[in-house]
Amino acid sequence: MKPLKELVRPNIWSLKPYSSARDEYSGFEATVFLDANENPFNPPYNRYPDPLQHELKEQLSVVKEVPAANIFLGNGSDEAIDLVFRVFCEPRVDNVVAISPTYGMYQVCAEINGVEYRTVSLDATYQFTADALLKACDVHTKVIFLCSPNNPTGNDLNRDEMVRLLSTFSGIVVIDEAYSDFSRQKPFRLELAQYPNLIVLNTFSKAWASAGIRLGMAYASTEIISLFNKVKYPYNVNLLTQQQALAMLRKRYDIDKWVASIMAERAHVMAAFADLTFCRQVYPTNANFFLARVDDAERVYNYLVRRGIIVRNRSRVALCDNCLRVTIGTQKENTQLMAALRQYQWEQK
Ligand SMILES: *Cc1c(COP(=O)(O)O)cnc(C)c1O
Repeated sequence: MKPLKELVRPNIWSLKPYSSARDEYSGFEATVFLDANENPFNPPYNRYPDPLQHELKEQLSVVKEVPAANIFLGNGSDEAIDLVFRVFCEPRVDNVVAISPTYGMYQVCAEINGVEYRTVSLDATYQFTADALLKACDVHTKVIFLCSPNNPTGNDLNRDEMVRLLSTFSGIVVIDEAYSDFSRQKPFRLELAQYPNLIVLNTFSKAWASAGIRLGMAYASTEIISLFNKVKYPYNVNLLTQQQALAMLRKRYDIDKWVASIMAERAHVMAAFADLTFCRQVYPTNANFFLARVDDAERVYNYLVRRGIIVRNRSRVALCDNCLRVTIGTQKENTQLMAALRQYQWEQK
């Protein structure tokens, strides 16, 4: 890895961050807070939340087995993705490299930030090689984006190739593990110590069943975490979100049960889907959704919409011609989906 200073934008490296009232005070156990121009009425909402979410990070650290000092929390993983660009990529100079197809936010964030987004196509089995990605890099490539299990394809990326990339690329490697709870592959967040150039993304939106509270995590070296903290909005994770995330962490055994139930349902739905006459292929998955190629995805999609069932039409995505992406729901929802698809099949005769 290059020295961090060479990878970070010069203005960010030298930035003196905004210092909030709550940042400056530390030490004595205080009871009278007259430092932040808050309203003394309406507790607890009258107070600014902890800007660095200490308690939440402590609890998360236990569950995720990542030291609290290596955790950044943001308004969804989308905030962390945006910060990657704002910290490392000089607009109109630097570029990033990513696999294709993958999660759409990397490209959107690149374009918003004026950063060239280079893609390398996955192969027919939706796998990649480190060499192919490295070939797409030049001296201005600051970041490589990987997503495993990948969205929208659902599969784990080849772990040996990810390791190869982490050990040979001299810039930052982001591995988005939004779906890792549904996979049996060893998560990279447990290997932060080996790879100073690694940023792992996680979210409360999938396995933790909390997309509505907007909470995402980035795990990285303490140096990278400090850079994120320097650039983020001072109070980027609101009080309600911090409270609700703590409540979910206390319920973590329920979450394990939900994940197990989704994985069991996934096997049933995929088998049933593969039996449909208009289904050409159901792709292997390690996430809470699967990708399936059908005859005329548009037609199937519209048929389901008319019955109030929404799946994702990925037909226009690279390598996903005529593909639908189906999220695993409750048993009842999955049964409704399959009933509608069998009706469609019958009507085609
Ligand atoms: C759903 C998803 C996320 C979650 O984003 P949030 O902003 O945390 O809701 C992140 N990465 C991928 C690949 C996803 O599919």
